[in-house]
Amino acid sequence: MRKIAFWTLFLYAIYALFFAFYLFQWTDSSIPAQYKGTSADPATFLTKKELMLAEQFSEVKNFLFFLSVPYEWVIYIFVLLFGLSARFQQWAEATTKRRFMQTAIYVFWLSLFVQVVTFPLSYTSYYVTKMYNISTQTFSSWMRDELIDFWVNYVIMVVIVYVLYTLMKKFEKRWWVYAWLCSIPFTLFLTFIQPVFIDPLYNDFYPLKNKQLEAKILALAEKANIPAEHVFEVNMSEKTNALNAYVTGIGGNSRIVLWDTTLERLSEDEILFIMAHEMAHYVMKHIYWGIGLYIVVTFIGLLLTNRWMKRMMKRFGSLCRIEKWNDLASLPMFLLLISLLSFAASPAMNAISRYEEHAADKYAIELTKNKEAAISTFQQLTRSSLSQVHPPYIVKLFRYSHPTILERIIFLEKQ
Ligand SMILES: [Zn+2]
Repeated sequence: MRKIAFWTLFLYAIYALFFAFYLFQWTDSSIPAQYKGTSADPATFLTKKELMLAEQFSEVKNFLFFLSVPYEWVIYIFVLLFGLSARFQQWAEATTKRRFMQTAIYVFWLSLFVQVVTFPLSYTSYYVTKMYNISTQTFSSWMRDELIDFWVNYVIMVVIVYVLYTLMKKFEKRWWVYAWLCSIPFTLFLTFIQPVFIDPLYNDFYPLKNKQLEAKILALAEKANIPAEHVFEVNMSEKTNALNAYVTGIGGNSRIVLWDTTLERLSEDEILFIMAHEMAHYVMKHIYWGIGLYIVVTFIGLLLTNRWMKRMMKRFGSLCRIEKWNDLASLPMFLLLISLLSFAASPAMNAISRYEEHAADKYAIELTKNKEAAISTFQQLTRSSLSQVHPPYIVKLFRYSHPTILERIIFLEKQ
């Protein structure tokens, strides 16, 4: 047991060291020589100070990202190894005989533990974002969001875990196929209710405030057959200086949401370009493609998890004081495998997303035909979020669901 704990920490330290060197020493975001002096070169549109801050801020944020994912794995391994998970299960079983309540109690202790142990990292991330003046959120407002997060995730998790372990106990061989079948309506349901019941827990959503601008945006939306009641503004200026817009929801709840920061700080032509980009996602039904892909990936993920989980629990179960692979206490192993698999799959998922984002850029420039506005939009986005125009390769692989700003501006320049 000590040996496994030692090796886990040792490998984590090596991994962290590698990324520290990779991000801070071996790479930077300087752009290829042939693009120097073009509109894609941040030196042409950022001040010296902004350039330096963007580099520093991105390095720190990237480092925090690469630290936090395997940190979660370390937590799951330790929770299993030191019998904490088995202890949580005992507490749950000692309190009640009802399986659903046992699940609720077990998941509460596990979630609370993970939340507390990961708090330093999430707080650091908040603190850094605030220090660089990207986030404008007060500590109490941030804490409030964290708490909402905790409870929203908790409720969803209890439902999932209850169904999952009921299936595991009933159908030891085929549980994962049934779990996959259940995940389809559940995913559709969550995507459907998200814009109406979940997102408003965090922020205020309303029709566009600037009526003059609204008329232009809706005129553009009409060109693409998007009904007016599907365009929303969200109050983000109390929380951030960054700019954004996105498409969310399905069916009657599908909508395009523009951050108020975007509407306040960009020119009309720039806003229309962003709107056209979001409309592309809407028109090309990227959300539905996303759900379809998610369903396929979940199938493969559950198939592999079923095999590996049984194997791992057979080997290490008694060490973790867990009798059977389908005892509630094995949940950290399930979560560990799912997290490992999604991390491994993220470069492919990001590549697909980048493809869709590029298609949306293409649609937007064809619709608005305003190259200058499009280019300055991306320059503004870079400034407002202090992002790297040309990030290191591994960063792009794991973190970039959008093409890099360099790629996006070069594409526009060629139009
Ligand atoms: Zn997009």
